[in-house]
Amino acid sequence: MHLKNGAKIAVIGGGPAGSFFAHLALTYAKQSGIKVSVTIFEKKHFDKKGAPGCNMSAGVLSEALLDKLSEQHIHLPPACIQQEIEGYFLQVPEYSIPLHYPYPPHKTRIVTVFRGSGPRFANCDITSSFDHFLLEHARKAGADIILHPVTSLEIPGNPNDLIKLTYGEGASKGEYTADLVVGACGVNSDTLSELNKMGFGYIPPKTIRTCIVDICPTKTVNDALYGNNIYVFSLGLKFIRFAAFIPKGAFLTICLVGKKDMDKAQLNTFLNQPKIQKMLPEGWDDSKKRCICFPSIPINHARHPYTNRLVVIGDAGISRTYKNGIDSAFTTAQLAAKTAIERGVSEKDFEEGYFRPAEKLLGRDNIYGGIILTANDIISRQKHVVSSHIKYMSEHPDTWETKWMNEVLWNTVTGNATYKDIFFKSIHPRLLLSLFPVTLYSFTKKSKTW
Ligand SMILES: Cc1cc2nc3c(=O)[nH]c(=O)nc-3n(C[C@H](O)[C@H](O)[C@H](O)COP(=O)(O)OP(=O)(O)OC[C@H]3O[C@@H](n4cnc5c(N)ncnc54)[C@H](O)[C@@H]3O)c2cc1C
Repeated sequence: MHLKNGAKIAVIGGGPAGSFFAHLALTYAKQSGIKVSVTIFEKKHFDKKGAPGCNMSAGVLSEALLDKLSEQHIHLPPACIQQEIEGYFLQVPEYSIPLHYPYPPHKTRIVTVFRGSGPRFANCDITSSFDHFLLEHARKAGADIILHPVTSLEIPGNPNDLIKLTYGEGASKGEYTADLVVGACGVNSDTLSELNKMGFGYIPPKTIRTCIVDICPTKTVNDALYGNNIYVFSLGLKFIRFAAFIPKGAFLTICLVGKKDMDKAQLNTFLNQPKIQKMLPEGWDDSKKRCICFPSIPINHARHPYTNRLVVIGDAGISRTYKNGIDSAFTTAQLAAKTAIERGVSEKDFEEGYFRPAEKLLGRDNIYGGIILTANDIISRQKHVVSSHIKYMSEHPDTWETKWMNEVLWNTVTGNATYKDIFFKSIHPRLLLSLFPVTLYSFTKKSKTW
């Protein structure tokens, strides 16, 4: 089952996975001398402010992703970049330490972006939207864009027949027949349950609800409080897995990921921590200048995200748990596009060319990710242990142990290395043995305080 000249590809969703797929499929088709048409269906209008025009995320783009985009000649325009990030700060209850890129002299490149046209109260326009930029890039590469939701899909009994989809409502309702349908709808979409009901074996990823708050401290205040640094917090709060302050020019994004669904009460508990209060700019609680959303994030990957003439990519397919989801969207889009153009669009083609490699690259690494996150949950509640190690790092900045721990922590917060690498580096016997006295001291300190 191959795509031939004149084949039509429908992409459901114009977020990163959908736009990357369109760009890559058109590139590979050109290289293979096949003429295909790609149509992206996108239900959001990225010129709208706040959640309605935004694929809600923290908006940190990793160096690995920026390198992949450059290789594809996709260069972010300056209007899209809110801030260049130079480093991270790890804040534990009693100490704060800077984390550096561990492999000098190379300087890492990390940038922050808005996915839509900025927070609901902001004065930004569509040129600041990363997702709009990618969608326009796909349009320039030759994709057609239809700004309407896909409302239904019909998979024919005979795999040689094409897939029919319906989009839009009322006067803008239309039908489209495709040789291949690509599900790039993310995890905040009703389309996941539609795909599940179709009976080809697709089970969507499990998700939890996170929380994102955008405020506007002004650039001067941001520079004074945070500089070009992302602040990551490990304050021993049971319900928080990851909390960060991410500066974006005049704005600050606060990102919270919990162990279960986040809600407003948990957000308030976090914001009212004395350490957090000290780091928040004045006027942060002005409700007219706050944009809050609770998007879902996948915590595992989908089962069977493919059948004949249909493949599910990005968050709705497989992504790396909690880290660099946009980079995973690129990886899955690339594997699926290569398979569709160069190999074929049957269930077997997608299993061998897309799913197995993606599972190997991302799915298996998530097993190590799960172990690291669970260990982190346990350790971060032992405030005395965390504080002793961070104190050691701040008082002995030049020892090999501090450099080693900096590398582990840097890679954990940035997602710069695989979870497998981070796991083995963090349990290395030489490190554990050398830090044993620090760990032991932290326990004696704890018992003295009882
Ligand atoms: C709190 C949080 C913080 C995050 N921080 C980061 C970060 O800093 N860096 C990073 O790399 N990743 C981050 N991520 C992950 C990242 O947001 C996702 O991995 C990424 O957006 C996945 O891209 P996608 O294209 O698969 O899905 P999405 O970005 O969700 O895009 C899906 C698109 O499909 C459209 N759509 C859905 N259904 C339909 C339909 N029926 N018809 C038409 N259109 C439809 C939607 O409108 C949307 O535009 C974060 C996620 C969360 C929740």
